[in-house]
Amino acid sequence: MREQILAWIEQDRDEIIRFIQEFVRAASPNPPGDTLKAMRHVRSFLDRRGIAYDIRSKVDNMPNLVATADFSSGDRHLVLNGHLDVFPVENPSQWTHGPWDAVIHEETLYGRGVADMKVGSTASLFTYMYLQRLKEKLKGRLTLTLVSDEETFGPNGANYLFSEFADEITGTACLSGEPSSPHTVRFGEKGAVWLRFVITTPGGHGAYAHLSPNAIDLAYELIRDLRSFISFSYGMPQAVVDALEASKAAFEKANGAGASTLAGSIVMNVGTMKAGPKVNMIASRCEFEVDFRLPVGVRKADLMRHVEHLQSKHSFSYEIMMVNESNWCDPEADIAQVVREAARTVTGINPADVLGMGNTDTRLWRYRKVPAVIYGPTPRGMGGADENVPLEEALNVLRVHALSACAYLS
Ligand SMILES: [Zn+2]
Repeated sequence: MREQILAWIEQDRDEIIRFIQEFVRAASPNPPGDTLKAMRHVRSFLDRRGIAYDIRSKVDNMPNLVATADFSSGDRHLVLNGHLDVFPVENPSQWTHGPWDAVIHEETLYGRGVADMKVGSTASLFTYMYLQRLKEKLKGRLTLTLVSDEETFGPNGANYLFSEFADEITGTACLSGEPSSPHTVRFGEKGAVWLRFVITTPGGHGAYAHLSPNAIDLAYELIRDLRSFISFSYGMPQAVVDALEASKAAFEKANGAGASTLAGSIVMNVGTMKAGPKVNMIASRCEFEVDFRLPVGVRKADLMRHVEHLQSKHSFSYEIMMVNESNWCDPEADIAQVVREAARTVTGINPADVLGMGNTDTRLWRYRKVPAVIYGPTPRGMGGADENVPLEEALNVLRVHALSACAYLS
C-alpha cells in the first residue's frame, strides 16, 4: 500500500500543487475569519470525487467540514485535523510576492497561510481521499475535520465541534499538519494565560505629585512582581523531560538558536499598555495586558495563586482574557511512532519529539487524553512577510500524513 500511495502522489503532483495555490488564493484571513471561499475550494474537490461530508457551522461564514469513512472492523479511529483560516496580512508592501497570489519562485510557494496551514490541511484532505481508495484493505475509522476559526482558538471551529459532535470527532488518535518542520514532531504545547490588569489612582496635576500616586509607576512595580513568577519552581513529567533533552539540537534547527530553553521556561510578555491622557497629568489609570506561557508542569492555578497573593501588596483589578492549559501526549503513542517512521521513510530524517510554543486545536484532543501529534512544514514567515513552503517539503508533508494514516489503520 505504501508504494501505491507514493505513486499516486507522484502522479498527482501538479494537481496537488495547483490545489494549494488556489487554496492560498481563496484568502481566509482571521480576523475577520470568513472562510467561505476556502471551503468552496475544498468542497468542489470532494464533490468532483463523490466523497461525502457534512458542513457544521455555528456562524454562517465560518463553516466546519466533517467527513467520516468506516473501513472493516477495528477499534482505531484516526482524526485528521486542519484549519482553513490564516493570519491576516499586516504589511503587504513587505512581501516580495503578493500575499494572496500564491507565486512559485525557485520551487517554493509563497503566500499567506501556506505554512499555517494550507499545506497541512491539503495533506489531510488528500490523505482522506487516497485512503478511500484503499477501503477494502484498511481497518477502523478515518475522520477528516477541516475547521474555521483556529487562529482565535476556535469558539466557532474545533471547540464548537467538540461541544456538539464530540462522539464523531474525538477518535483514538489525531494527526495535524500544523507547522513543525521536517526535523520535529510536536507531541504537546506550552500553556498560555492572558491577563488584563487595571490600576486606578485619584490623579491630578503633574506638578503636584504629593496629591496622588501615578498609575503608571504603580504598574511598573506590579509588573516587576508579576515577573517574579518566572522563577516559580515546578516539576515536569519525566517523559517530557526526556523528550525535550533528546530533541534539543533538532528543536534549535527548526526554531533558531536559544529556542530549546523556552520549552521548559515560564515566559512573560507585557503586550499592551494604555495609560494617562496628558504629559502634565498624574496618570490616574493604567491598563496593561500580559501573556504568560507556561511549560508542562505549571498550571493556570499556580499563576493565579501568585497573582492573588500580589493583591495584598498592590492595588489592582484584573481579568482573565484567555486560558489554554499546557498539554502533551505520550511521545511513544502509536500515532507518534507511525509518524516518525513515515517521516524517516520519506525524508531520511528521524524527527525529534518537541513541544509547541504556541497553541493549536490539537490541544483539544490532548485535553481528552487522545494522543495528538503535529507534522507539518517549517513555519517560514508565519505571521510575518513572505510566508513560504518549498514544494518538495509540501509534498513530503502529504506523503508522511498519507503513509502514517495508512499504517495506523492497517
Ligand atoms: Zn495553525
